[in-house]
Amino acid sequence: MSLQLYNTLTRSKERFEPIDPTNVRMYACGPTVYSFIHIGNGRMLVVFDLLFRVLRRTYGTGHVTYARNITDVDDKINARAAEEGVSIAEVTERTTQQFHADAAGLVCLPPTIEPRATGHIEEMKALCETLVSKGHAYVADGHVLFDVPSMRDYGRLSNRSVEEMEAGARVDVAPYKRSPMDFVLWKPSKPGVPAWPSPCGIAEAGRPGWHIECSAMAGKHLGKVFDIHGGGIDLVFPHHENELAQSRCAHGTHVMANVWMHNGFLEAAEGEKMSKSLGNFITVRELLDQTPGEAGRLALLSSHYRQPLPWSERLVQDSRRTLDLWYELAADADDDGEIAPDVLEALEDDLNTPKAIAALHALRAEAAKGNATAKASLKASAQFMGFLQSSFDEWRAWRPAGVAIDEAAVHALIIARLQARKRKDFKESDRIRDELAAMGIQLKDAKNKDTGEIETTWEVKR
Ligand code: AMP
Ligand code: ZN
Repeated sequence: MSLQLYNTLTRSKERFEPIDPTNVRMYACGPTVYSFIHIGNGRMLVVFDLLFRVLRRTYGTGHVTYARNITDVDDKINARAAEEGVSIAEVTERTTQQFHADAAGLVCLPPTIEPRATGHIEEMKALCETLVSKGHAYVADGHVLFDVPSMRDYGRLSNRSVEEMEAGARVDVAPYKRSPMDFVLWKPSKPGVPAWPSPCGIAEAGRPGWHIECSAMAGKHLGKVFDIHGGGIDLVFPHHENELAQSRCAHGTHVMANVWMHNGFLEAAEGEKMSKSLGNFITVRELLDQTPGEAGRLALLSSHYRQPLPWSERLVQDSRRTLDLWYELAADADDDGEIAPDVLEALEDDLNTPKAIAALHALRAEAAKGNATAKASLKASAQFMGFLQSSFDEWRAWRPAGVAIDEAAVHALIIARLQARKRKDFKESDRIRDELAAMGIQLKDAKNKDTGEIETTWEVKR
């Protein structure tokens, strides 16, 4: 089967045909770096990471360019720096590092390119100049504004007409706008926040609007037209609609990207988008402190990416148990297994992760019956999706942050318990078991087949 992807632009699932199979190009809108990302942002990272993996497998590792940007010009960043009394660079540097650690914690491969907005100011200014010279933008009151009525089919991506949008627009439209839907490409900077010499003959220094940043970065690194543009569903309007308008009008192209893909919301409660502004968020860091990253990743991939994903503690626990089972069975399997055709087919069908995960469960059941091929295939398939990245021992040794366990004391108690059992002092052996349980330690007894001795292993209870 060939790769099929749902395209927001055409509202249908289409066979994916790259412009150039030797350089498949994908852009995804990354985070604004002012504080820890939340697990809703994590969903976007994991979804496009999985697609990156599928593309690399199909076209070859060296034939896919994935650009995921860092937005490091933003009022929220300025506000954070002022609040902490540190420089803007300090906030963006620190947050970018935290972001990298979080993305790696969720087993995301680094993208091929990670452009930063501040490194592309000249390209943004050049786009402003081009749009003005082509009659798609104008200068007013220190701003450069995109002239929405100058674009015949504005609104195609979000499937709304300009009339509808205008009707929904707020009444207090800025007086310098010619038309209510016109949006900012460049704006004056306030004192104390970053500013650059302005384009288009504007005397005062200024800074870019958000949308122009992505048009400039995508254009520079992926070209005027590229294959896939992605992000969360909240970005369809206005961010992606406006990116697309800027890029198409500046480059005179019919499309910016051939396929537009959007992940659904991760929900804090039913129907409630997780977001910083609602204050209902869990950071990826908090998640990674409490659970291994692979379990977080599995939970994030448990629903189809276009569906909403209601988050719960239960979902995380179940994902972790599933991984326990996969690890137990397949971590020591041969490394020459093939990715199961069922898993690949599911992923090639618009990243149908629930189906791929079901196929992994089926492989586990086969492997449990002693089928070595299924076992090796479970390992290869799970690893392809970003799971079973460590050994079974490492997996079992994972501890939540802040939980220090005195391993020597645990071992001493286990030995004391085994001795009590040998002398049939079950009261004492039970007491020790309970003492360990109170420390959060769970014991597992198994008979060694060779020696006939009982051996006890332990793990931290969840
Ligand atoms: P932001 O920093 O808010 O611009 O978000 C970075 C990325 O995460 C964007 O692609 C957003 O669409 C995506 N995103 C933000 N919140 C959620 C959420 N609750 N569920 C899924 N994706 C989200
Ligand atoms: Zn963007």
